[in-house]
Amino acid sequence: MSILEVKNLNLGFQCEDIFRQALYDVNFSLEKGKMLAIVGESGCGKTMSAMSILNLIPKTAKITSGKIIFQKEDLLKKSQKEMQNFRGSKIALIPQDPMTSLNPLYTVGDQLFEILKIHQNLQGDEAVKKAIEAFEAVQIPSAKTRLKNYPHEFSGGMKQRAIIAMALACNAEILIADEPTTALDVTIQAQIMKLLNEIKINNKTSILLITHDLALVSENADDIAVMYAGRIIEQAPNKEFFSNPNHPYSKALLNSLPANNKEKLQTIEGQPPTLSQEINGCKFHPRCKNCMKICTQKIPKLIKINTIHSSACFLNNSEDLPV
Ligand code: SF4
Repeated sequence: MSILEVKNLNLGFQCEDIFRQALYDVNFSLEKGKMLAIVGESGCGKTMSAMSILNLIPKTAKITSGKIIFQKEDLLKKSQKEMQNFRGSKIALIPQDPMTSLNPLYTVGDQLFEILKIHQNLQGDEAVKKAIEAFEAVQIPSAKTRLKNYPHEFSGGMKQRAIIAMALACNAEILIADEPTTALDVTIQAQIMKLLNEIKINNKTSILLITHDLALVSENADDIAVMYAGRIIEQAPNKEFFSNPNHPYSKALLNSLPANNKEKLQTIEGQPPTLSQEINGCKFHPRCKNCMKICTQKIPKLIKINTIHSSACFLNNSEDLPV
């Protein structure tokens, strides 16, 4: 069952007097109690797609069309004030850098109490009880004592756990985890991903994972959407994607993983296009080893290549079948 649906999302930036499109008809749905990973290189539009859900896009960005359906309501029709009822309490963000996400001037407990007061109307002993429960749920030891600590007294992994605790304390139904382990070392990364998986299973929380790390995705995500230059170019459940990758970009990403290429790591020649670069046809064509003439002229549509797998590539030669 879908808990969140992003439909035909188009977004761009006003750059002086030119409007540059950054997202093109982005479609995905997040299932209840599942983890969907949106994967791609920096600047591909994955973070902008996620931030659109919370209406936390930069001032220069504009959503030109689309729908974001949550609990039968279109979030794109909500005012900033109305969105405050969704942010944190129903849809929570786990940011990339836990180091800068907590206010260094207040104890971690005070920051958690503030959230409980705003979103749950809890104060005093009730708030302390709930905060301790939230810290224990994310395995922060000596929870009662740790609430009195300032952020600088927490390690990077503990700060990320505290931020996840804040999301849990409000019973958020969706967690948007934007590169949640990038700033952490490898062993802590694994612990945080294990924790997110436990939350997903135990609380039936849905998680939207934004990442460039396919290895992380292979071990954790239920469903995968690959983005390139503002478009979703491949979508499939985890097992199907890793056993039967279709799009040349996805295959190149997989070939660049150490585990998949024991002899020599392969790189993808070239760079993803910037917003100001105009590329006709398939935006991956300057980097694609399979490029054909049509690829430089037309944009391939995302089409179903089987019942559970979609890809946007002319090699599939079945463009007429809409997704
Ligand atoms: Fe490569 Fe053409 Fe497919 Fe684009 S449409 S990925 S250029 S083969």
